[in-house]
Amino acid sequence: MPTPTPDSAQLAATLERLDGRGYKAYRDIEGEWTFSEFTLFIDRVQADPFADPSKLRIRVPLEVAALPARALGNRTRQVAAAAWLARAFRRSIREVGPRRAGTGKGGLVSIDAGGAEVLERTAVVFGEHWVEARIEVGLPAAGRRALGGEAASLLTHDLREIATRAWIDRRDEDDRSLLEFVDCVENQESIRRQLRERGLIAFVGDGAILPRESGASERPMLARDAVPFSSPQAFGVEFQVPHADAGAKGQVWRGMGIPRGIVLMVGGGYHGKTTVLRAIERAVVAHGPGDGRETVVADPGLVKIRAEDGRAVTGVDIQNFIDRLPPAPGRKTAKSTRHFSTSDASGSTSQAANIAEAIEIGASGLLLDEDTCATNFMVRDARMQALVHPRDEPITPFVDRVRALYDDLGVSSLIVMGGSGDYFDVADAVIEMKAYQALDVTARAQAIAKKDGYKTPRPAPMTPLRRPDPRIPLRAGFDARRGRREVKISSRDNEEIVYGTTKIDLRAVEQLFDPSQTRAIASALHVMAIDGIDEIRSLDSVLDEIEHLFDQEGLDGLDPLRRKGRHPGALARPRRFEIAAALNRMRTLQIADAKA
Ligand code: ADP
Ligand code: MG
Repeated sequence: MPTPTPDSAQLAATLERLDGRGYKAYRDIEGEWTFSEFTLFIDRVQADPFADPSKLRIRVPLEVAALPARALGNRTRQVAAAAWLARAFRRSIREVGPRRAGTGKGGLVSIDAGGAEVLERTAVVFGEHWVEARIEVGLPAAGRRALGGEAASLLTHDLREIATRAWIDRRDEDDRSLLEFVDCVENQESIRRQLRERGLIAFVGDGAILPRESGASERPMLARDAVPFSSPQAFGVEFQVPHADAGAKGQVWRGMGIPRGIVLMVGGGYHGKTTVLRAIERAVVAHGPGDGRETVVADPGLVKIRAEDGRAVTGVDIQNFIDRLPPAPGRKTAKSTRHFSTSDASGSTSQAANIAEAIEIGASGLLLDEDTCATNFMVRDARMQALVHPRDEPITPFVDRVRALYDDLGVSSLIVMGGSGDYFDVADAVIEMKAYQALDVTARAQAIAKKDGYKTPRPAPMTPLRRPDPRIPLRAGFDARRGRREVKISSRDNEEIVYGTTKIDLRAVEQLFDPSQTRAIASALHVMAIDGIDEIRSLDSVLDEIEHLFDQEGLDGLDPLRRKGRHPGALARPRRFEIAAALNRMRTLQIADAKA
């Protein structure tokens, strides 16, 4: 007969016993403990009071949690329910407020519940018969001695109270809030799935609050300060959603449909253009009720494009935009831009590379904001064309490629551009933002573009547009070992991954929303380097495989040690575009020579 797992009283007794001993004595509590409402797994005890806190899991049988069955009907609903449960757990930690005790991180309890975006994450997962919170706890110490009594009250009293208050002793209003959250997310997903067939790349609901409280916050601007979004009639669309009164009143969501093709957003400075674009950028994933953007839904294949001078570029086909570079001094021929590499790209070459890399792995649309674009990449006006002969200009500006990008490759563009009317010639639709109100100015813009005095000559590009070549990454570019030491991979916020001795700068990757996504990307790079990259497969297919892993095993599948089910750390699901963005910015990246 298997020995029964020890219970919470035994955990308390064990902790009392190690009171005053060296911190390492806490190792004795690693393992599984039975509480009346749940099982506590202590997967890893921190090395000292200042180290990363200990990793614990609280596994509650679904029978005990008794979540409304409707909350878990399908995968979308489970991800949303998990997000709600993680937030509830975080709130409960605040309410119970365990006492910070002793040195270092003693008494700290945390869960990686995330920010405004609803992402699949490791913080809360469902098994067939249970739901589990993955948390971090700082085990209390005085100096470097274990405070066993404090730990006993933290783990057997406070934790139990946090877990039961968050997940078990729910009131009716909690269940209503849970169901509204889940329904709201599913409504967004249902629209996201319909966008393509409706010929749209994005939907912005009437009444949405798009501006944020500040430039450094993802919380909504106070309702009394914000102008709620309202669609111009010409762009008005309606979506039937599965759940009434979740996200918007009723079961029909009304708002602005942004059509596929080329859409220009114009308007005076400070009239709200960037705010709309940023909401769309982030609407590639869902938002919860109360965010203000819970009725904004974008095609998950939209990629924000910007200039990023200084980045490394490896073997990228940027010939569509940049060709016939002048030869370097002392050379006869210039480097080809079909497999372009540099350790220090310019504004325009970096923007060209960002576009080629996004299209290479299946972007359905590009989002551009004049605030962060390279001017010489975006436009060349009539006077400059008259002065500098096209022969002597390697750049084919975006304005001369954007039409073919859509017509030939099916890639849409949404462009915020208040400073140049050259895009009127190529835009299918033009939206003006005027004092935070969206207006349809398509007909006026097109009339202006045709008027004599305003015409800009549009030279045909010298070469037809080509789909950028797929690239095959080589394993040699990935070395996570640091000197003779073990594999070393880490990340910081949304900004940087350190892979072995290679630093990857992600500050310009704007659709990376969450530090846990960055961590997941760091792990994904390693999983890809070990299992995916084989000198044969293209980057695109390696990414298919990693997404397949996410679909099959969730983010837990990224744990490099594959400790089945143990606390895998705080991870959230990134898109393929952001994984690729990190890989593409690795300065050690190597790409197989293309057979020309
Ligand atoms: P633009 O890109 O047109 O120059 P922004 O989008 O940067 O303008 O917006 C300018 C300012 O107006 C920002 O501080 C933003 O928070 C605020 N703002 C944007 N949209 C709204 C709105 N709907 N209601 C209230 N304030 C807004
Ligand atoms: Mg702006």
